[in-house]
Amino acid sequence: MEVQEAVTQHTERVNLLGMTRSKMETWLVSIGEKPFRAQQILKWIHHSGVDDFEQMSNLGKALRAKLGELAEIRPPKVVRQLDSKDGTRKWAIEVGGNNLVETVFIPDGQRGTLCVSSQVGCSLDCSFCSTGKQGFQRDLTASEILGQVWLAIKSYDAFGPGKNRVVTNVVMMGMGEPLLNFENVVDATNLMMDDFGYGLSKRRVTLSTSGVVPMLDKLGDVSEVSLAVSLHAPNDALRNELVPINRRYPIAELLAACRRYLDKQPDKHRVVTVEYTLIAGVNDSMDQARELAQVLRDLPCKVNLIPFNPFSLSDYQRPSKSAVSRFWQVMTDAGYVTTVRTTRGDDIDAACGQLAGQVQDRTRRAERHRRKAEETQIIRVM
Ligand code: SAH
Ligand code: SF4
Repeated sequence: MEVQEAVTQHTERVNLLGMTRSKMETWLVSIGEKPFRAQQILKWIHHSGVDDFEQMSNLGKALRAKLGELAEIRPPKVVRQLDSKDGTRKWAIEVGGNNLVETVFIPDGQRGTLCVSSQVGCSLDCSFCSTGKQGFQRDLTASEILGQVWLAIKSYDAFGPGKNRVVTNVVMMGMGEPLLNFENVVDATNLMMDDFGYGLSKRRVTLSTSGVVPMLDKLGDVSEVSLAVSLHAPNDALRNELVPINRRYPIAELLAACRRYLDKQPDKHRVVTVEYTLIAGVNDSMDQARELAQVLRDLPCKVNLIPFNPFSLSDYQRPSKSAVSRFWQVMTDAGYVTTVRTTRGDDIDAACGQLAGQVQDRTRRAERHRRKAEETQIIRVM
């Protein structure tokens, strides 16, 4: 009896926030309920923003009580909210062990883009990325990923009928490599696109990857999200330096995987977004633009240039405006639809690649120690 009680006390309630429709149907059946209840529950959570079963008035009293006992709807815990002068809003979310991840909302006319994190830190260590410098801590759960959408809408009081849709687009471009947290990211993005979830069209939910080729092939079998690929270099020698995963999956393999992804999509007019972070004197010359135009010639794609956003642990420089526009011109003349990503939320460190969160791992502490030791040495020498 005592053992039984101990087991019951320690059983965690299941968080329904990031549960897909099919998983919720299976779960409901497993607790002896009808699968159609999933649709009702999903609508309460994702259309009305309800996180309390007692408010779900079309569920019977007994079912509400049972759900309250076995399950919960628990959004991530926001510890800080920052508002930029330009309307960008950033949330720091606590994910245990003193670790924080960040979510950014970028309003732009009728469009509102939410930049969502998928992991605490990242293991891939791209040379120009602040998240990569922190090392990897853990994967976010599907509820923690989807919960970022939920809390953004909540924070603008935009749930419920008659409210303006605030989040019109979601990009998996926050902290972490989404394809290394495959199942949770697929579940969360599928829920964003489900009519009983957020009903976003597949063109408005974008997954950005640095190129985990085998996972990209798996993604094509289970998802219709829009694909963005972080290329950043026109040849393997340079990409090996900037994006270390290129040593495992070089450019030709990555681009072939992108084509396979497009081939698997029912809609044959879709394209991949090629992201290219421009770093002064590293990958921003006109010759490199010409090389890039050559490399991409067989891929249906558009190009998004991202001027490098500096952060404290990096010595790279942002390119000049004229270098950006020269690069843009070469790509445009070569026939590519090319855009330059504007920096938003600079005053709150919300720009692309600046999402540092706060990951208390050894890599970061070691880096701080190393810098401190260096600084001390410099002072001694002086
Ligand atoms: N891990 C995924 C998604 C997160 S990063 C990926 O790498 O694609 C989102 C985009 O921001 C990527 O294209 C990434 O290369 C870019 N980025 C990272 N650090 C940056 C920085 N400091 N300045 C500009 N872009 C950066
Ligand atoms: Fe990870 Fe993407 Fe940053 Fe590379 S750019 S370290 S893959 S988050």
